[in-house]
Amino acid sequence: MAGIPFFPMNLDHLSPELDFALKFARQAADVAFQVERDMVLSTLTKDDRSPVTTADFAIQALAGRLIHEAFPGDILVAEESAAMIKDGKAPASLEEITKVLARIWPETTADKIFEWVDRGTGVPGDRFWTLDPIDGTKGFIRGDQYATALALVVKGEVQLGVLTCPRLAIERGKATVVRGNEGSVLIACRGQGAWSAPLKNGTAFAALAVSSAHDPSEAVVVRSYEDSHTNTDQLDRLVEALGIQSAPVRMDSQAKYAVVAAGAADLLLRFRSSNRQYDAAKIWDHAAGALIVQEAGGCVTDLHGKPLDFSAGRTLARNEGLLASNRHLHGAALAGLRAIAEDRG
Ligand code: AMP
Ligand code: MG
Repeated sequence: MAGIPFFPMNLDHLSPELDFALKFARQAADVAFQVERDMVLSTLTKDDRSPVTTADFAIQALAGRLIHEAFPGDILVAEESAAMIKDGKAPASLEEITKVLARIWPETTADKIFEWVDRGTGVPGDRFWTLDPIDGTKGFIRGDQYATALALVVKGEVQLGVLTCPRLAIERGKATVVRGNEGSVLIACRGQGAWSAPLKNGTAFAALAVSSAHDPSEAVVVRSYEDSHTNTDQLDRLVEALGIQSAPVRMDSQAKYAVVAAGAADLLLRFRSSNRQYDAAKIWDHAAGALIVQEAGGCVTDLHGKPLDFSAGRTLARNEGLLASNRHLHGAALAGLRAIAEDRG
């Protein structure tokens, strides 16, 4: 398949940000791969009981430093904070983070790491970057899918999104699980389209396009790997209501958006989990992936058909759940969701 020329001239107005995002994405994938290859993958457990690894902190530190250098004054809103590695309770993790970053910047110290990581504690404003350093940490640890997700949000709209999916190779209409960092980088600019390229080949970008499936019964559905991140009862009922024949594919992280954008899946569904410790969806879990699906021709809303509102702070507080589709199946999915909601009374 022939790649399209990159970058088209009409992307020029965003080129410094685009250029930056792509370089960052590849560096982040290198860091994640180094951690995967060389480290014990020691994990810490956050207050919400989710795990966090050396790679989460190292990639957030990388972004904190690089964004500050490239766009001084830009705000970063990211998943982690340095509190857990600051209190001296995780010396092994801090040592590993220092080792990874010292390969890029030999002068790296613990204090510098705290400063770079905590640059991600910014408050969303008119223009900010949002980052999930390792989206799908559980998948990263398990050997399944994970992603690094970075997006630029301006006046509540995602303008630019980049995803690395190091364990997902993408061709038009096809996504293949791969090992190490043989996977893909995906990028989208609002109004300009979405592309993917192999992580290891800087220039081979090809346009992403969603599937043309129109028949709900034939739809390929993707859902979170972890049952606790969604509501499997509601998902089962929707699958039944739409007459969907194949079992939903379980996948961690925004790799789910990547497979929809590539046309390898038709519907992505996320129901509110019954876990009370997890309040609302975080903006960094959706910003990059949602733009990539939209720019590949798909449609992304919440479960009520409302557009995602990225101006509500660090969470999507004004939305409930998530539906991403190839656009053709969106109406049928929303109708199915209404039907199962009415059924519940
Ligand atoms: P997924 O890969 O679809 O399982 O989504 C991963 C994301 O789910 C993580 O980055 C978390 O922000 C989020 N998450 C963690 N715990 C929960 C939970 N109990 N319910 C819903 N989402 C969660
Ligand atoms: Mg995440």
